[in-house]
This record gives sequence, C-alpha cells and structure tokens, in this order.
Amino acid sequence: KSCQVHSALGNPETREDDINWDTVINLDHGDPIMYEPYWRKIGNRCDITLSGYQSLSYFANTKNLCWFLEPKLEEEIKRLHNVIGNVVMDDHYIVVGNGSSQLIQAALFALSPPNEPEPISVVSAAPFYSGYAEVADFVRSGLYKWAGDAHIFAKNGPYIELITSPNNPNGVIREPVVVNGSQGILIYDLAYYWPQYTAITSPANYDVMLFTVSKCTGHAGSRIGWALIRDKEVAKKMTKFIELNTIGVSKEAQLRAAKILEVICDSCLDSTLDNFFEHNQSVMSERWQRLRQVVKDSDQFFTLQKYSSQYCLFKGNFYESHPAFVWLMCKGNEDDLEKLLKGHNILTRSGKRFGSDSKCVRISMLSREEDFNIFLQRLMVIQQVITNKN
Ligand code: PMP
Repeated sequence: KSCQVHSALGNPETREDDINWDTVINLDHGDPIMYEPYWRKIGNRCDITLSGYQSLSYFANTKNLCWFLEPKLEEEIKRLHNVIGNVVMDDHYIVVGNGSSQLIQAALFALSPPNEPEPISVVSAAPFYSGYAEVADFVRSGLYKWAGDAHIFAKNGPYIELITSPNNPNGVIREPVVVNGSQGILIYDLAYYWPQYTAITSPANYDVMLFTVSKCTGHAGSRIGWALIRDKEVAKKMTKFIELNTIGVSKEAQLRAAKILEVICDSCLDSTLDNFFEHNQSVMSERWQRLRQVVKDSDQFFTLQKYSSQYCLFKGNFYESHPAFVWLMCKGNEDDLEKLLKGHNILTRSGKRFGSDSKCVRISMLSREEDFNIFLQRLMVIQQVITNKN
C-alpha cells in the first residue's frame, strides 16, 4: 500500500517539506495559481506596454453598444470561441465586466421585470455556486431575491434560473431543472466550459452566457469577464448597470486580457507553440488521477463524483471531465467534513454553502503544485487515522 501512496504523492521533496504540519493549505477559493508555470514558460510573449498618453478616455468604442469594450478584446473573444468551438455567437452582443461576478449582478438587474410588486425569484440547482445566493441577496434588491434550490422550486410565474455548466462545485454538465419551467429566464454561467476541464461536446447557443478569464486562462486578478447576450435591450441594460456601477472596465486589464487570449489562440493554431489547453488539460488529468488513486486506497471512506467520457470536438477524442473543484463526500460517521479537514490545516468550503450538506466539501484543484501534493499527503494520513480508529 505504501508504494501506491508514494506514486500518487509524486515529488518526494514535498513529502519532506510537509513534516511541518502547521502549514495551512487554503483550498477554499478557486484561486487559479495552477496556471502560473505555463505562463512562466511563455516568458515575455504576453507583455504589453502602455505609454502615459494612452487609454485616458472613458470610452473605448462609442459605436459599440457596450461603449467601454476595447475592440481588441472583442476581436480576441470572438477568435477564441471560434478556435475552441465552445459557443455559437453570430448574433450575440458582447458586454465586458469586472469579472463575471459583476456580470451576474448586471444580468440579474437586466433580466428582472422592472415593475412587479414582488421581486422575481432567483434559483439554481443544488449544489449551486455559493456566490449566487450571496450576490442575489446582498443589496436586498426590490427586483430579485434568492429562492434557493431549483429542484424544489414550485412557485408559479416567472423566475430566473442560473445554470452552471460544468457545475461549480461538482463539475457536472447541467441543464435547467425547474419542473413546469416554461416561464424561466435562463442565465448560463459557462465559466468552466473550456477543454482543460471538460469535453467540448457542442457549441453553446443560449440567450445569456457568461465567461471569465479567471477560469479560462487563470488571470483572476485581471478581473475580466464577458457576457454574450442575444437580446439588444438586455445587453443595453447590462451595459447601463456597469456604467452606473464602475463607469466601465479598466482598459489596462482589457488590453492585457486581449493579449493573453491572443496568445492562447495562437498556441492552438501554431504547432511549434505549447498548446495552452492541451498543456493544462494534462496537468488537470494528472492531478485527478493521483487524487483518485489516493481515494481508491482509502477503503471507501471518501467518495468522489464520477464523470463519463465524452467526445470533445476541440480535441477530436474522448475524455473524462477534470473539474476545477473536487466535490468530496465522506461515507463514514463524520458529520462535518470541513471541520475534519480544517483540523488537519486544509481549508475547504462546506457543502452547506452550496445548498447541500456538511458531509461534502468543495476543494480547489487549481492550487500550486506543492499545495496539491501536501493536500494528497494529508488526505492519506486522515484516512489512515480514521481507518485505525474504526
Ligand atoms: N461563476 C462561477 C461559476 C465561478 O466559479 C466564479 C468564480 N469562482 C465566478 C462566476 C466569478 O468569477 P470572476 O468574478 O472571477 O470572473
């Protein structure tokens, strides 16, 4: 058994380092540091310089409905979707936002009926992304209100359903779930619909689709997201929301994001370059293999979500999903998995925050390699301790 453990743990140096059990490993947030080695390897290819006289104006393109969207970013977003084939966007408007977090709020504002006596219900199927519930209720808007798990939503009339596919926290491919859902206004959050996480099975073609560079390229700190919106009035209202909220989106951040998108597109088209998606798909695939090995060795104390193999149009072969998060469930008597892991200095997010229960946790798979190694090592030890106790 110990041989299997060692092969799953990988780098022996990290095992030595982890003699210090006081190091806290934070896998609560989906902070995408995993991508750093790829970008280091790329070197200065993504560098951009801006002189003092550039980008002073509030405006980027007054002819565009989204007047603060940089033309270069618009071009690279279209090019990227075209190269990956994950979206049909012939008749969509692009609205850029300060991360897709701002676009979620803009979309809720734009899609809510303006003159109703009651706020419209906002739902998502549990386990749902914990950010939705927080955002929907934060400012106590009179327009919309969080109404919880879409599986059990049964109110008559219009509602907004957020569909995250692949889903955060559990990586599952999703569709709307509300029963009798004929009056649903749908927001597709496709933050993870990229080949490093899941097979691209068909181009998405919905009225409202959200994306973010945070999970696509790993540049979460740039705070750039984009919405693809079919209806002109909805796109206008979202643009207005961002105008009143932040008067647009930083040009520096947009131009940097445009450059990064350009480089990842080039990496897919030029065989002399290291293909961004293939590179990071293999990092994810290796991490998932090692994690599965550790969990398999655990006599089934922990269980993981299963994913079927799907044909990817981008890669031209079959593969299983490698989600950005592990949705870890414990079968034993432990009632609070977040607390159990915290006791071993691993910070995760309880299933309760996702409308599920405390026997589950969400764990980021996008950490630094060293932290991932320590995580696997501690998971092994926790399992051994529990097995011995029983
Ligand atoms: N949607 C989903 C499903 C997410 O997981 C996240 C980030 N955790 C976001 C939206 C927000 O991303 P950002 O604001 O960084 O673009």
